[in-house]
Amino acid sequence: MKLETTYTSDNYPIIIEHGAVNSIVDKTKFYKHVIFVIDETVANYWQQKLEPIINQVDGYQLVVPPGEQIKTLEFYTQTIEHLLSLQLTRSTCLVAVGGGATGDFTGFLAATLLRGVDFIQVPTTILAHDSSVGGKVGINSQYGKNLIGAFYRPTAVYYDLDFLNSLSYEQVLSGYAEVYKHALLNGEAETQAIEQHFDNQQRLASLRGLDHYLFKGIETKLAIIVQDETEQNQRKYLNLGHTFGHAIEYHYKLPHGHAVAIGIVYQFIVANLMLDKDYDIHHYIDYLDGLGYPLKNIPTYDFNTILSLMMKDKKNDYYGVQMVLLKAFGEPGVYHVPNHILQQAFEQFAHDLTR
Ligand code: NAD
Ligand code: ZN
Repeated sequence: MKLETTYTSDNYPIIIEHGAVNSIVDKTKFYKHVIFVIDETVANYWQQKLEPIINQVDGYQLVVPPGEQIKTLEFYTQTIEHLLSLQLTRSTCLVAVGGGATGDFTGFLAATLLRGVDFIQVPTTILAHDSSVGGKVGINSQYGKNLIGAFYRPTAVYYDLDFLNSLSYEQVLSGYAEVYKHALLNGEAETQAIEQHFDNQQRLASLRGLDHYLFKGIETKLAIIVQDETEQNQRKYLNLGHTFGHAIEYHYKLPHGHAVAIGIVYQFIVANLMLDKDYDIHHYIDYLDGLGYPLKNIPTYDFNTILSLMMKDKKNDYYGVQMVLLKAFGEPGVYHVPNHILQQAFEQFAHDLTR
């Protein structure tokens, strides 16, 4: 399956299929240097798959520590100085092989190395169906996540679904939350279809049929980001579930997608209160809890702590926070939600979970 961005120029293909990573050979043949930045866990699981490709393009392999720990200024400095010691020219292509952390980090390296060299995304997690598309790249600051970065498009995204077979169920769950988010942004029919397809843990763990929903998810994201690359307007919709989600992810150390899943339920409660909607909250709690998201912990969370974390965003004010709410399935909007509603929604959430 293939998608392509529809910007006025500098478009890139997104190939979603088993074996997609082999396309690297053809794509990189005109570069003088091809540098593979590979997540260590992925390198261990998939060495046999990757090695022939790296050899064929005479590539240089840089294995980096797994996950989020590489998204620091220290590791960035160390890595970029190392790359510069290889006497690279601008005829260099970086290839990010890993989850969202490897992609964000490598993209930022590419954006800044010699004022910008090409880069290819090879996402290896479900979550990275989201992070590898759209050109947001960056690393973390002591003041928050992703605060040092750029908008920088890849030249191609090769989403080789083989890689997903070595994910733990926890990683599957974390990624699925963003796939589900994309279905909600897409519409009611899409939401019902995905819920029916993945209606229990075994079905989700099997990954059967997931490629269709990954494709749909990327398509939904593309439709938004080609209209608003730098998040002036519609791109904010992709933050559905993320305001509450980011606050609990940070404070209660949850995987990103687990926090987003909980944030999605919270958003439905706020929408009921603020937009006079009638979303069936118990349905979402039961569905997501059934898949294994840690919803039952909510009653022990502290609202004031979460509120102060949600307030950190500079667009928020003393009276409330900006949140994406679903006016209807497939119809998100950005709203200023006052503090008393945030609190009421939290109390209802805690109450609904202990019913
Ligand atoms: P990740 O890259 O940290 O990977 C999660 C874990 O899975 C790591 O331990 C990694 O080693 C392991 N892993 C990766 N691929 C594997 C595989 N095929 N088999 C087994 N293990 C594997 O995290 P993620 O969940 O992919 O992405 C989260 C990151 O993405 C965060 O840093 C977040 O800020 C970023 N993100 C960016 C965007 C964007 O638009 N740029 C969007 C969403 C999220
Ligand atoms: Zn997210």
